Amino acid sequence: MPDDDLYPPPPAFAAQANVGPGTRERAAADPQAFWAEQAARLQWDRPWDDVLDDSAWPTAQWFTGGRLNVAVNCLDRHLAAGRGDVVALHWEGEPGDRRTVTYAQLHEQVCRLAHGLIELGVRAGDRVVLYLPVLVETVVATMACARIGAVVSLVFGGFSADALRFRVADTGATVVVASDGQFRRGQAVPVKSVVDEAVAGLDHVEHVLVVRRTDEQDLPWTAGRDVWWHDLLERQPAQHEAASFDAEHPLFIVYTSGTTGRPKGLVHTTGGYLTHASWTHWALFDAKPDDVYWCQADLAWVTAHTYVLYGPLSNGATQVVYEGSPLTPHAGRHFEVVERYGVTVYYTAPTLVRTFMKHGPQLPAGYDLSSLRLLGSVGEAINPEAWRWLHEHVGGGRCPVVDTWWQSETGAAVVAPLPGVTPLKPGSATLPVPGCAVAVVDDAGAETAPGVEGNLVITAPWPGMARTVWGDHERFVRSYWAPYAEQGWYLAGDSASRDADGYVWIGGRIDDVLNVSGHRLSSIELESALVSHPRVAEAAVVGAPDDVTGQRIVAFVITRDAPGADDAGLAEQLRAHVATRVGAVAKPREVVVVSDLPKTRSGKIMRRLVADLTAGRGGGDITSLTDPTALAAVERAWTAHR
Ligand code: ATP
Ligand code: MG
Repeated sequence: MPDDDLYPPPPAFAAQANVGPGTRERAAADPQAFWAEQAARLQWDRPWDDVLDDSAWPTAQWFTGGRLNVAVNCLDRHLAAGRGDVVALHWEGEPGDRRTVTYAQLHEQVCRLAHGLIELGVRAGDRVVLYLPVLVETVVATMACARIGAVVSLVFGGFSADALRFRVADTGATVVVASDGQFRRGQAVPVKSVVDEAVAGLDHVEHVLVVRRTDEQDLPWTAGRDVWWHDLLERQPAQHEAASFDAEHPLFIVYTSGTTGRPKGLVHTTGGYLTHASWTHWALFDAKPDDVYWCQADLAWVTAHTYVLYGPLSNGATQVVYEGSPLTPHAGRHFEVVERYGVTVYYTAPTLVRTFMKHGPQLPAGYDLSSLRLLGSVGEAINPEAWRWLHEHVGGGRCPVVDTWWQSETGAAVVAPLPGVTPLKPGSATLPVPGCAVAVVDDAGAETAPGVEGNLVITAPWPGMARTVWGDHERFVRSYWAPYAEQGWYLAGDSASRDADGYVWIGGRIDDVLNVSGHRLSSIELESALVSHPRVAEAAVVGAPDDVTGQRIVAFVITRDAPGADDAGLAEQLRAHVATRVGAVAKPREVVVVSDLPKTRSGKIMRRLVADLTAGRGGGDITSLTDPTALAAVERAWTAHR
């Protein structure tokens, strides 16, 4: 829980930071004026009439009447400012191939594909699904769609034919863009055949556009439907006159990670989203023209939409984009990339930090990481132990760690520190982003006392907010807005508490909150206590049904060393450790050592599947599960333990 450790911004960092003191306060005094000021950082073809129209609650509309083009904001604007030769992307493939792409080159590719998509019959409002690895072409395709007003939906390249089919059918896409194959942990694997299987019988799919990546031989090919990317682009003009779109024109559909159940397709629009994405990228990551910025998320996750695609490109950033697994061909691959490109800002996820920790501090110590000046974290609550490790062993003790809490639904960060202003506490995403308002409340809507767990809610509209769930507005209302309809608040689905300084501490998913003899305990807090033990690398804590206490706490842990003979002794040690860290009531009744934990493709622990196991339930949605063998391993360990 709240840590006494306080890390104020290093004075030298604070002195040069994009955002100084007073911004949060100024934004709170007049959020609409604040967001209007940030929207004005963008290029509008027609100014907006109203900043906010929330007459159609819960779907708020931002910058109504305004018109703009996202691709023009992300590309043409920088060319017009004489920055065409600035590197937009340092792309690195998993096998080690590299490409450097300037803004002018990116612009040309985007213009060609914009014409190409039109040739394939795509019109404004049509959906285009991208089933691609992290390639330059993936970036080009998102921008080309934005340029012509097509609604893009990126599907993780590692998903199965079924998962792809669900998203293609759900969006009703007319074009699917895919690669012939992709590299995955050192292996070339076929992709095109997966696409063929996924779209079979979906009549709305008119074309499959294929990027050559692995030079797959004997590619299955449907004449008339399938088109090579390079053939299409070659015959298009290099310039494209972009039209402007309404601020509320849909920009993309992003499916949630599926941590808690069947993914929801959130719809994000143009003006408000870009304002929120662009400003928070600039403010939270302190974006400077000479930065080399690297957000390691796969482009299909919301993280990369906002903090690789739309945010950084709108700010003219120079970025690293890396295609492959972080551990291929060796565990130091990321640090090698940081060293090679002189990365200054590195935005990562707690799961990866914990993986690095397993290798020990000698892993990052083997590389020159002195270029780094800011670190970021997203995806899960970062355990204080992992935060400190990242700060010290990757950031050399000098880099602010910007822990950003947000969701597919929020579009961009909603709780996060301002790196030049906010004193940091390891494990807390700190305070609401300027212009955003959150609260931690009980089921009746009353704010909880400091330190007391409750529901995290967002209490006022914000520009990046999703407008609906694609094709299921009723689900949008029911999932997020119905519980606090009276107050008009957004229910995030995460539990949290605030400390006496107002800092937000995410406790886990509401569904994962443990209830032991009437005490509400957060899964994250218990897991962080476990991870702070020198022998524990990762932990998942769940509540198993118990006749006496309601729930009993079961901890599944991965040890830093190999599982050993004294696992029974370890269980005793860990119980004592948690009792000192959190309290006797939080002591896990059972400790099970496992070799792996079930995670989503974006690296989040899927506690519900572990909980199902301990409750003897089955049949949970596993479409987002990264590796079924991990769940099987937990099941075996659980059975042996019983
Ligand atoms: P689903 O909604 O389908 O269960 P998901 O919630 O994992 O999937 P995302 O929108 O990708 O899908 O993730 C958002 C969630 O990730 C948040 O609600 C929160 O639980 C967690 N999260 C993200 N960033 C942080 C952070 N910095 N600290 C704590 N939790 C975070
Ligand atoms: Mg969610």
